[in-house]
Amino acid sequence: METEKETPAPAGKPDEEWLRFLDTLSHELKTPLTSIIAAAGLLAEELEEKGEESYQKLIKNIIHNSHILETRLTELLAIVKAGDGRLRLQIGPVDMKSLLQGIGWQMAPLVQKKSQTLALDIPESLPIFQGDGQRLEQAVFNLMTNASKFTPDGGSISLRARQRITELIIEVQDNGIGISKEEQTKLFKPYARVNADRQKHPGLGLGLALAKQVVDLHGGRIWVESEPGKGSIFVIALPLPK
Ligand code: ADP
Repeated sequence: METEKETPAPAGKPDEEWLRFLDTLSHELKTPLTSIIAAAGLLAEELEEKGEESYQKLIKNIIHNSHILETRLTELLAIVKAGDGRLRLQIGPVDMKSLLQGIGWQMAPLVQKKSQTLALDIPESLPIFQGDGQRLEQAVFNLMTNASKFTPDGGSISLRARQRITELIIEVQDNGIGISKEEQTKLFKPYARVNADRQKHPGLGLGLALAKQVVDLHGGRIWVESEPGKGSIFVIALPLPK
């Protein structure tokens, strides 16, 4: 049985006109993007058959970046919904072990591209969790892509999970550039993009804000332990039924 849960009222009333504008903008941009992705997919199939390798690379690049754009727009829409209380969870049983292993698979090409190592520590015995699997996947996936993005080539990333008394703990660790104490306080707010050096990495600064919204809606906690130059550990603690 799936039930719905609403976002708690946001701290500080969001500017309604601004939210409406962002809502319309992201919808308007998504529609043509969906057509671009579909057309590019068909073109990729054609080129695959014809064996034109240089064109195949180009089309793969178009598809890859269109998907990134799509993800950004999805994040934008979700954060707008969170801002005006429309973000809702679809609660059901979630097999956390499979969900996290799936994220590991999805991350493989990304980490390979940067010659990073990826270690998974996901015990067989993880309990089934009552929550919104898609949203939780989105939240953890964001932590993982950040871990890879903000870690130099050759670095290490790990994804761990365990049950700690009445909580399910998920940890994403990297040995990348790390985050200063001051920056850590802003991270989970929308559009928080810390120091100028990171501006070279693509992103809107919505992923962590969204992850926090999702974790909050599940009654959980999210935090970061980090030191500049030494890497970061992002931790999600989700309450298990007593
Ligand atoms: P985005 O990655 O789209 O900018 P996020 O909300 O996911 O948005 O992250 C916000 C900012 O937090 C990032 O721009 C980056 O400056 C910092 N950050 C997030 N994860 C890490 C990490 N693992 N290591 C270092 N900095 C990070």
